Amino acid sequence: MRQRYDVVVVGAGASGMMAAITAARNGAYVLVLEHMDRAGKKILATGNGKCNYTNEKQGLSYYRGENPAFVLPVLKQFGFKETIAFFEELGIYPKERNGYYYPASEQAASVLKVLLMELKRLRVEIRYEVGIRSIQREKNGFCFETKTGNFYGTTCILATGGYSAKKTGSDGSGFLYAKKLGHHLINPVPALVQLVAKEPCLKEWTGIRIEANLKIYAKKELLSEDTGEVQLTDYGISGIPTFQVSRFAAKALERGEKVTAFLDFLPRQSKEEVFLLLKQRFFSYGTGKTMQEALIGLFPEKLISVLLKKCALKEEFPAKRVSEKELHLLCKQIKQFTLMIEKTKSFDMAQVTAGGIRTDELKNETLESTLIPGLYFAGEMVDIDGMCGGYNLQWAWSSGYVAGCAAAKKQIINGTVYK
Ligand SMILES: Cc1cc2nc3c(=O)[nH]c(=O)nc-3n(C[C@H](O)[C@H](O)[C@H](O)COP(=O)(O)OP(=O)(O)OC[C@H]3O[C@@H](n4cnc5c(N)ncnc54)[C@H](O)[C@@H]3O)c2cc1C
Repeated sequence: MRQRYDVVVVGAGASGMMAAITAARNGAYVLVLEHMDRAGKKILATGNGKCNYTNEKQGLSYYRGENPAFVLPVLKQFGFKETIAFFEELGIYPKERNGYYYPASEQAASVLKVLLMELKRLRVEIRYEVGIRSIQREKNGFCFETKTGNFYGTTCILATGGYSAKKTGSDGSGFLYAKKLGHHLINPVPALVQLVAKEPCLKEWTGIRIEANLKIYAKKELLSEDTGEVQLTDYGISGIPTFQVSRFAAKALERGEKVTAFLDFLPRQSKEEVFLLLKQRFFSYGTGKTMQEALIGLFPEKLISVLLKKCALKEEFPAKRVSEKELHLLCKQIKQFTLMIEKTKSFDMAQVTAGGIRTDELKNETLESTLIPGLYFAGEMVDIDGMCGGYNLQWAWSSGYVAGCAAAKKQIINGTVYK
């Protein structure tokens, strides 16, 4: 007699664990198949080890994909409030910082531990290092052929993540099962990732962190912008504003478009205000100072050198002898420093994958496949990615919950689906 589970979840990451817990709480007999030797490796890396597990600001504008509105019915069933309540019940006392939520322990390990405790309490079986060879659709469900034998499930939830941070287990293999089962992908690209630029000054500005506005353009169209602390590095740019715009740059680069980044190093002042400020610093207060000295206190010294060099101005030249034309040039570099973006850093450096299973092949109330009854998807493998700030984990919890609930309620008997 072959052993059969009601729900088989593939992948013990954030979304898979949430799906398994929810299915088990709804009375299902649940098995989780994980190819790593442990669950939730990526959770440990989140929020610099502190796990920013949700955000109180929610809405369409925080989620991206071919059809971002796909998230709405999912978040409606399990959103911010439900997430806080769910984790509080498991033991995670919330700590809020500017709307971002972390466990009070400030340890991502706490989030993983409480999920594992709950899975144990619910007697959910987890098989590690499984090595799935194939997932086949059968009359009454699915057969999972693995290195160590076959497993059978009435329903299947694929929660294998995308390609980002491969060392945590998400190597894209789940996409292959989905494709073999007939699903299609929006081509995955790295997101929440650093941008690599072509620019001679990169070595000189390495290590600078500065508040700036970052705009990304392709085909003369503004794709995305963000303001915050940008990190200037030897390959290009990093930091939260870079992460926020990166998926748009990645998509445009994938389309073969030229991508340009504009940095505004004084985003609170208009161009006219900056010009007046420069005039004051160079002409009124510049007596006895060099060009470089006239800018000290306004920018980090490494950036002053880069800006002056860009305008072909000599650092040691007397400030008072600068022309208005040269000041206009300097003003332009300050307000609109241009970088040609060559590529993004790789998936290994990316926090998330943009792209994945097409949402028009899924029912948005249940996350069930419209092609194969009893097959569900959750988490990052779906073509939804969130902004930096707890939105990707929120999507993992929300989609895991919805898929887990729906899968538990579904039965397939002799090919007929009973809801
Ligand atoms: C460094 C870093 C920091 C981050 N910080 C945050 C943050 O603070 N807040 C936030 O909201 N988001 C953050 N994210 C993003 C967030 O962690 C992910 O979006 C989320 O964990 C995705 O969950 P998931 O379950 O879909 O996929 P994953 O967490 O990737 O889990 C997938 C699981 O499936 C398993 N698996 C894959 N293929 C197979 C297979 N063939 N067979 C069996 N098992 C398989 C994997 O081993 C893994 O355990 C961060 C990501 C990174 C990399």
